[in-house]
Amino acid sequence: MNIQHFQKNLITWYKNKGRDLPWRHTKDPYAIWVSEIMLQQTQVDTVKPYYVRFLETLPDIKSLALADDDLVFKLWEGLGYYRRVRHMKEAAQTIIENYDGHFPDTYDQIIKLKGIGNYTASAISSIAFGQEKGVIDGNTLRILSRIYNRQDNIALEKTKKNYQILMDELIHGCDPSLFNQAMMDLGAMICTPKHPDCTNCPVQNLCEAYRADTTAILPVKIKNTSKSDIYYITAILKKGDKYFLIKNEEGLLQNLYGFVQYEVESPISFEEHFYDQYGLSVRLCEYIKEIKHVFSHRIWHMSVYLGEITDPEEKILSENYTLYSQDELTLLPISTAHRKAIGAAGAIGDGVCGFS
Ligand code: SF4
Repeated sequence: MNIQHFQKNLITWYKNKGRDLPWRHTKDPYAIWVSEIMLQQTQVDTVKPYYVRFLETLPDIKSLALADDDLVFKLWEGLGYYRRVRHMKEAAQTIIENYDGHFPDTYDQIIKLKGIGNYTASAISSIAFGQEKGVIDGNTLRILSRIYNRQDNIALEKTKKNYQILMDELIHGCDPSLFNQAMMDLGAMICTPKHPDCTNCPVQNLCEAYRADTTAILPVKIKNTSKSDIYYITAILKKGDKYFLIKNEEGLLQNLYGFVQYEVESPISFEEHFYDQYGLSVRLCEYIKEIKHVFSHRIWHMSVYLGEITDPEEKILSENYTLYSQDELTLLPISTAHRKAIGAAGAIGDGVCGFS
């Protein structure tokens, strides 16, 4: 691989064809941080208006650190995964206390901040501070496995570590900000998971998978499917006489409805996770029993609890969640595992948590 050639082709393409995104017009580490946290698990087009509004209201680290929680969560309302913004506020307070309000300027310092992992630390340190730290995520893992025609399983941590070394070699000697953003765009626009647009790819002449005609089978991604035991706290949550269920958008029980469950060790931890994810307060009031459900390659151990959402019904509905009556519950497609939980709660649920 001719690294200089790769960098030149990639960055020239990015300057001409890269996406024009609001956070690409700044070197302010705070603004880049906000964009990167919002982009975790959220589509670019969804993030744009949130990003603009957040920065208009809380334009710097100090304003976020001192902001009222209600305001911060209001600005995040609808983005989900509320833990992200709570961690941001904590990190902003750390920056005020430990760095005199100035965003730390090295990868090693940035990654120590609450809620910041390898990808986000690499993105901020390269884009805002010019550090040669390549970003590793699904996009860049896919590009690397194709341009080097490598069959490593990208689901493994070992592969991610090895590919980090490759990325840091590739980024060396060029503008780290442009390089990383160009890789992000190449993965999003050209070297896509299915049907990569190799005809218009700026690095096609350097791509070993293209030469070997293996682009369709790369990257290799094999998740561990061995039989494993998973321990959940599963909560049958009610508001008044209605139930709170969610529709699974992916995973084992895709398109089926079910109760919220987390791999946590205590009801308090469940309540915190629930608040982080849904922005609603809950109280688990009664332990029912443990239910075991065996799938083909997995065993769920569900500690079933009864609980209530303590926020008003108007708030639940204003967040676009749905509450279901007992009659509706019988009509919804609900997984067998969670039907078992209903059965267990039905036998002894009367009278607890104010249930009737
Ligand atoms: S040539 Fe095709 S497979 Fe190779 S990097 Fe470009 S888009 Fe990806």
